[in-house]
Amino acid sequence: MGCCAETVIALLRARAPDWPLRITRSAQPVGKLVGKDVPAIMRVELIAYTQQNPLLNPEALAGFGDLATIWNGQGSYTEQLIEYAGRVCYRSTHRMGTSPEFIAARVREGHEDIIEHVVVTLRFSGDDAPLRWRMLNRHCEVTELGQGQWLVSGNTRVWLSLFRAGAGLEALPILYRIAPKVFDEYAETLQSETLPDVDRLAPTPMQADALLPVQDGAMRVTLLGFTQPLLDDPKLSLDHGSATFLFEGISRACTHQLVRHRLASFSQESQRYVALERGEWQPIVPDTVAANPEAMAELENFWRMAEEKYARLRSLGIRKEDARFLLPNAAETRIITTMNFAAWSHFLWLRAVDKAAQWEIRRMGQHALVMLHAIAPQVFAEHWKVYTEKFATP
Ligand SMILES: Cc1cc2nc3c(=O)[nH]c(=O)nc-3n(C[C@H](O)[C@H](O)[C@H](O)COP(=O)(O)OP(=O)(O)OC[C@H]3O[C@@H](n4cnc5c(N)ncnc54)[C@H](O)[C@@H]3O)c2cc1C
Repeated sequence: MGCCAETVIALLRARAPDWPLRITRSAQPVGKLVGKDVPAIMRVELIAYTQQNPLLNPEALAGFGDLATIWNGQGSYTEQLIEYAGRVCYRSTHRMGTSPEFIAARVREGHEDIIEHVVVTLRFSGDDAPLRWRMLNRHCEVTELGQGQWLVSGNTRVWLSLFRAGAGLEALPILYRIAPKVFDEYAETLQSETLPDVDRLAPTPMQADALLPVQDGAMRVTLLGFTQPLLDDPKLSLDHGSATFLFEGISRACTHQLVRHRLASFSQESQRYVALERGEWQPIVPDTVAANPEAMAELENFWRMAEEKYARLRSLGIRKEDARFLLPNAAETRIITTMNFAAWSHFLWLRAVDKAAQWEIRRMGQHALVMLHAIAPQVFAEHWKVYTEKFATP
């Protein structure tokens, strides 16, 4: 799908006689244009953007936590995914769609991890500007395709930061169309623009059953969405493919290991909203403890004591956010995680197919591996081989 780069540049030029472009955020009004070097005109083409897991629908998710609320959100699936991520953090998924400005407000206040879960891949030609974009934002993936073409992937936070730096503005109409609330600060500029059509890019046929959400004891693993650019070239897919998971029913001990993976994007339920009172929180119990009644009794005693101390702190006027310091590593949590395939690959080697990995993150990683292998079999072929040899039951 080609984009109307010339039109948007003309539009921005009309708004700013001192063309070309540097769009800054801080002291100046949003969308103010300043700058010096006139860039060449680039052509831009949409290659992929985050698609909903085709097996997710309200029926499939009935009784599966609050996930079905995702479709109560405003806008397209990309915006629903972003709002859901924010509401998972705030424990307010029951309010999905009730605040049309939810995403724009989060962007304004700087809670921007939630806009990292939608990834967009574009092909640029006609200028070598993309070569420099990694210097502006090290979280984008830039690959030279030859013949003056560049493949660039980034999440919507990356694209927003590039636009604010005056880079890649040719892509703004596409990004705006994919997730308008993320790029709300450009709404006025783009108002009269005929925005490009970004029809849903159909996912490549795949082994669909593997994409169903998995419930494994307390643990739930759901593939929320993914991008599948250029799957005929696994080398490109590694950097430019991506997947977003919701992990639930796992301990804080497990997510602490997960968040050590620095190339990922995370939105985790905040413990500010979790009280250590009966019914408000659940502990994750290791199998070894559950199988040993004496050990189990010790754990339960400890949790009862923690609850009593929590109630005492609260009665002394201590706020929830400080009383939560009593929450143990066992506290159940949930987290939305997005990585490109290269980062998932590294994660899987360390956490899913290595027997040295701790049981909870390994089990979680193996469920993710099954789904990742289904959407990108060539990329995860080696992991799959090791997994089936070492772990999978015949
Ligand atoms: C079995 C096991 C035991 C562990 N035990 C401990 C422990 O006792 N204590 C502890 O603190 N951690 C421990 N860890 C965590 C581990 O050290 C890493 O922090 C974690 O696995 C994240 O992986 P990573 O650092 O390789 O890569 P990620 O953060 O996933 O990044 C991927 C890759 O990007 C590159 N990279 C990312 N950031 C940088 C950077 N700033 N500089 C250079 N390169 C970078 C590296 O090539 C890296 O491999 C353990 C992990 C495992 C699997």
